[in-house]
Amino acid sequence: MPEGPSVREFHGRCCRQLGAAVLRAAGGTRQVSVQRLEGRQLQQCQVSPHTPIDAPLLPPSPSPPRPGQPHCVFPQVHGKCLYLGFGDVRGADTGCPGSSGGSGDGAGSGGDTARDPRLWIRFHFGLFGRVRWDGLARAKRPNKRGDWADPVPRLLLHFPGGHLLAFYSCRLCECGCPRPDPSTDILEPRFNTDQALLALKAARPIGCILLDQRHFSGLGNIIKNEALYLCGIHPWCLGSQLAADTQRQLLQRLLHFTHDWLDRKRRRQRLQHHIYQRARCPRGHTVQRAQLGPPGGLSRPTWWCPVCQPLVPGPLG
Ligand SMILES: [Zn+2]
Repeated sequence: MPEGPSVREFHGRCCRQLGAAVLRAAGGTRQVSVQRLEGRQLQQCQVSPHTPIDAPLLPPSPSPPRPGQPHCVFPQVHGKCLYLGFGDVRGADTGCPGSSGGSGDGAGSGGDTARDPRLWIRFHFGLFGRVRWDGLARAKRPNKRGDWADPVPRLLLHFPGGHLLAFYSCRLCECGCPRPDPSTDILEPRFNTDQALLALKAARPIGCILLDQRHFSGLGNIIKNEALYLCGIHPWCLGSQLAADTQRQLLQRLLHFTHDWLDRKRRRQRLQHHIYQRARCPRGHTVQRAQLGPPGGLSRPTWWCPVCQPLVPGPLG
């Protein structure tokens, strides 16, 4: 899943076309009528989590789960989505009706969906979705039929000056004006750390708490694994088992890691993983791997070092 820094990078690239009209639209999507976008102006670009309102939230487990044991207190994780708002060139403005204005990077802050005349498209990037702006993707290997066919973007937008935005491997649909909540966005200056610390105290595996997009929007599997390793916390530890200092240290560490990752992306530097998809930790210990998530729900591969990240025995364990 593209994590917060990646989606924020996509967002920044799309924002560069704000105010430009779509010259030509194409793509393999059947969810959106691409011809409707032609001639419309890109007027809004926002990032916001998408968590279905019917996501199940089950009661807390009475005892700490063991590594590898599924844990059921976990709503479905839906990563950050990108929203583009297209309007009539003659009716250009910079915010949704009733909104409180943009946030400095071209993103508005939501508003009255019913009165917003714009055509809004939501992009959900799943595990492998991406946006390209520097040319179309080329085939890196032959497909199942042995053809070297280039990937087909779900949506391809051409703008004046030879600029383009190509969206690959994502789901998209028409939607209403989004209502982003900056207090839960880990990359927003208005991220509410007090609210986040409260969420960290839950009697759920800390590896599950961190992926809960209701509290940590934009936090994905890489950030989860790396921040827990850097703090020496076992992913199956319950949040309620951690000392208050440890919870604060974890929050600071994951925010620093996320902002540093975004800075690296902007400088086109690669991120070095300490534990994620590694066979050994930086100190040379053998790394463990297991799935962590709810039965029947989305479980994510989780890596930890049993030496650097010992499992703290729970009060009932
Ligand atoms: Zn280690």
